[in-house]
Amino acid sequence: MGKPHAIVAPYPVQGHVIPHMELSHRLVNCGFKITFVNTEYNHKRIAATLHNGQEDNQIHMVAISDGLLAAEDRNDIGKLTEAVIRVLPREVETLIKNINGSDNQDDITCIISDMGWVLELGPKMGIQTAAFFTMGAGPVALMSNITKLIDTGIINPDGTLIKDQIVQLSTAMPAMKTSHFIWLCFHDLNTQKIAFDSTVKNTQLTECANWILCNTSYELEPAALALIPNVLPIGPLLASSTLGQSLGHFWPEDSTCLTWLNQQPARSVVYVAFGSFTIFDCIQFHELALGLELSDKPFLWVVRPDMTKESSDAYPEGFHDRVAIRAQMVGWAPQQKVLSHPSIACFISHCGWNSTLESVSNGVPFLCWPYFADQFSNQSQICDVWKVGLELNKDQSGIVSQKEIKEKVEKLLGCDGIRTRISELKEKVTKSLSHGGSSSRNFEMFVDGIQK
Ligand code: UDP
Repeated sequence: MGKPHAIVAPYPVQGHVIPHMELSHRLVNCGFKITFVNTEYNHKRIAATLHNGQEDNQIHMVAISDGLLAAEDRNDIGKLTEAVIRVLPREVETLIKNINGSDNQDDITCIISDMGWVLELGPKMGIQTAAFFTMGAGPVALMSNITKLIDTGIINPDGTLIKDQIVQLSTAMPAMKTSHFIWLCFHDLNTQKIAFDSTVKNTQLTECANWILCNTSYELEPAALALIPNVLPIGPLLASSTLGQSLGHFWPEDSTCLTWLNQQPARSVVYVAFGSFTIFDCIQFHELALGLELSDKPFLWVVRPDMTKESSDAYPEGFHDRVAIRAQMVGWAPQQKVLSHPSIACFISHCGWNSTLESVSNGVPFLCWPYFADQFSNQSQICDVWKVGLELNKDQSGIVSQKEIKEKVEKLLGCDGIRTRISELKEKVTKSLSHGGSSSRNFEMFVDGIQK
């Protein structure tokens, strides 16, 4: 018999591709052959970030259509989701048929994806399946309870709120605002509707997978995991622990900031990054810049090329000159390496789940500034449950002011309790991933099971 061969097909956005890549490398280490499926659009972006010799020799990367035209906007989640559901499963099916029909390749023995429509191919083609949730168990538990939310009169059957209120999924779970339900945290009604419908369907389909994996651990989210006993936590998966290098990134990393970090005092630098989607208008971008300047600390700020709505230079006048001796701005950072650097003091973050896991794994406390989707519930996990961060609040005009940024940076760095708790959480997470730890045992169980 040949090697076990997994086809790995993530939902095609940055925050889903990276953890699927990390899972793939773990499986390579366990003797798996991996065929990793990106959309053509993402494949080109990833390839463009690699230098000579940096290609991934262990994983076979393939590209398929995402169903959108070249010029269409991949940041429009509604549009992307509809196109992907329509096209991607068919493309993956053809790919599997080609691989399994050829004499010189090991047959695909399992399908790994966070998209139920791709997992649905498994039973049809006689192949085992594993759903892999790249978000926390809290949002997964919420999605699994949608029927209950409808039955108990909290939401309408179309996902809209009956009234704005505070609810708890169980007595052990944190209280949450209903307006923070994932599908309601998108910025327009059409995307909210598509997000709700696709969430309902995806949850039904993923529940039929042979394995349901989640990038979390019992130590991080015991209450949420108790609500979804069919889900196996195997995280946090980090590239740095298996690879020491980042792969599957859509922007080229600027590693010069690591040299700069080497020159900063221990625990002095404020790291500021908002993941791959967050967009600021010029007023908010301006205010953030002034807040970092006012906070009087060294800072490393990731300013993606597409981060402001307006393409012109959004920095306040004279900003670069005034902060030059204590600041670095980069287009895309090697974030996992940055967060593990001893010079980092705290993380101003949009609370994407990957960023959250990376910060916790390195014992770095948070200032939370969520943008959309599950980031509001991740903020609540960070601030209300783990108590390892503070919220940045908006003023009456909907802006996080420079004063708020300065005051919260000071408050966070002066809080010994938060520092102690984040160190304890880091310890627990490290233990769960080490030999015999809960996530490590779950991962071994999955690897053994999926090969039978
Ligand atoms: N990331 C990175 N460099 C950056 C910003 C982000 O490598 O400058 C990575 C980060 O480490 C994380 C991912 O991009 O693994 C972002 O995922 P997350 O879930 O935090 O946010 P999303 O992009 O999905 O909103």
